[in-house]
Amino acid sequence: MRIILANPRGFCAGVNMAIQCVEEAIKIVGTPLYVYHEIVHNRHVVERFVKEGVIFVDDIDEVPADSTVIFSAHGVSPAVRNAAKARGCTMIDATCPLVTKVHMEAIRYARQGLNILLVGHAGHDEVVGTVGEAPDSITIVESPEDVAQLPFDEDSDKLVYLTQTTLSMDDANNIISAIKKRYPNVKAPPSEDICYATTNRQHAVRAHAQDVDIVLVVGSRNSSNSLRLTEISQNDGTTSYLVDDKSELDHRWFEGVDTVLVTAGASAPEHLVQEIVDELRNNFGGVAEDSHVVEEDMHFELPISLRRLRDGQPQNAAAN
Ligand code: SF4
Repeated sequence: MRIILANPRGFCAGVNMAIQCVEEAIKIVGTPLYVYHEIVHNRHVVERFVKEGVIFVDDIDEVPADSTVIFSAHGVSPAVRNAAKARGCTMIDATCPLVTKVHMEAIRYARQGLNILLVGHAGHDEVVGTVGEAPDSITIVESPEDVAQLPFDEDSDKLVYLTQTTLSMDDANNIISAIKKRYPNVKAPPSEDICYATTNRQHAVRAHAQDVDIVLVVGSRNSSNSLRLTEISQNDGTTSYLVDDKSELDHRWFEGVDTVLVTAGASAPEHLVQEIVDELRNNFGGVAEDSHVVEEDMHFELPISLRRLRDGQPQNAAAN
């Protein structure tokens, strides 16, 4: 069996930064340490930190007053920041800078009096956080069909669209095309909102999906960018499976299979990929080879709120 390892795959700069935030905060303030929402959408990463004494919460009311709380890579709304501040919490904001960029765009466009069409998945942590920046100005658009239901005049020049960072490029383009068709005057963001990591991982899968028998995506089911990688493979006519780890492999999937493409979502640790490769090597005589489609060298600094905490300096009113 031939195993093609997609590159890039796995951790992106935002996930690396967020995980490092939690590691550093444990060293500085100890545990229990509170994290609002899963720090990144990966079961193994979350379980690792739970074992180290981190408590993940979905409501700021679960965080004791005057505790330290970290906001996840997906970002939070101002209401969550204000609630944490009211409880006297020390806030560390591990929001990916590329998510923060979308928040800033939403704030700016809302101040300009524009109606924002946010292309994304309702209920996803990132979308909830972005909507919270300007709830009266944002309408979520999940599909081309949603566009037909929008209440705005076709000749409006007060519309702009933004997108969630982890969408399928094809899905987003279909929705944006529908928006532009109905609203020819709609404004576009100054630069693409779908992030470099999402785009690159999709390119790396697309480069091979049609030439392999199956695609394995390592990632958790609530990981948006991992789900998109499986959809891209399936859209290209190739069976794909999303697995959290090697324990979820079903050996029947590999009967009669010559070539497997293995990739990983932006929040999936590399050791899980290597364990899967070992499993395929040991059971099916798999031989792994790397395919480099795009090179990445992105790196994000730790947030200033964490650096201040580390250096014993007072926190700013708004964590960043
Ligand atoms: S997937 Fe993109 S937006 Fe999300 S954390 Fe990674 S770099 Fe940031």
